Amino acid sequence: MDDERLPWHQDLWRQLQQRRAAGRLPHALLLAGPAGLGKGLFARRLARALLCDHPAADGEACSQCRSCRLFRAGSHPDYSVVQPAEDGKIIKVDQIRALCAFLGYTAQYGGYKIALLEPADQMNANAANSLLKTLEEPPGNGVLLLVTAQPARLLATVRSRCQKIGFDPPAQAVAVPWLKARVAEGLEPVVLLDIAGGAPLAALAQADGERWRRRRELFECYEQTRAGRINPIRAAERWIQGDLSENLRWLIGWHTDVIRLKMSVNPPCLGNSDLCSALRRWADQQTPRALFDRLDAAIRLHVLCATTQANASLLLEAFLSDSLH
Ligand SMILES: [Zn+2]
Repeated sequence: MDDERLPWHQDLWRQLQQRRAAGRLPHALLLAGPAGLGKGLFARRLARALLCDHPAADGEACSQCRSCRLFRAGSHPDYSVVQPAEDGKIIKVDQIRALCAFLGYTAQYGGYKIALLEPADQMNANAANSLLKTLEEPPGNGVLLLVTAQPARLLATVRSRCQKIGFDPPAQAVAVPWLKARVAEGLEPVVLLDIAGGAPLAALAQADGERWRRRRELFECYEQTRAGRINPIRAAERWIQGDLSENLRWLIGWHTDVIRLKMSVNPPCLGNSDLCSALRRWADQQTPRALFDRLDAAIRLHVLCATTQANASLLLEAFLSDSLH
């Protein structure tokens, strides 16, 4: 994955390489956009390419030279990464001071010196303030790469000193084939992308084949129960398997989509577009009032199972008995 060139990065890559070729590469870049688009991968690819002794014509690192080998080993002396000591914690002022000192030394290999901050929005105010001077005028050939999914949380004085590189979720025509080649047979790339807000790496992280098989099985089981072909007591035994809370969130999602289908004049945007034809059948079979009652019951079931010591099997049996139509 680290070496992968993500297809939705290509335009941004080309633009930056053109600036580099023209000698106008900004010395502070803010890579900003939603999570799951590979901003950090892009930053590392750029750092590696800037440090490479023999980059290709398109600006890519050669992967062979001394610099590339050191980079891969995580020991390039002209490259430094600043991250919180633990996930979710802040980047401290001492870390930023060390970073500024690092950029102040002459590059060991005579090329760029590169600092990567990720996630940059985790700098506290002291840390951010101590970065301002270096950000405005990095010494020598210093380049700062700030990565963030929440640029609004950065100090305005930090943002204004960086050139922003904006990352947007790619078009489906780009994202779907990429994802389809990486997820198990039977998973629906379009649905995974919907759930992940269009961010392909986030969609890939969610594409656990086992979970999706369970979701399909429970849907099938629920259809059979509604048609009276499976006993609610037997069905409840299956619903209780695995992550009950997740199972019930799926159930709520299906009932929400059914109401969308019932109430929309135009084809609505569904959270479960792979189940559309079955959900439309449910919508056609019942009155709006009955559909809302079922959604309410599904939500109550979820709340009761999550917050009380109630017997989840009995609650599920009662809910599934009422689902016969
Ligand atoms: Zn190289």
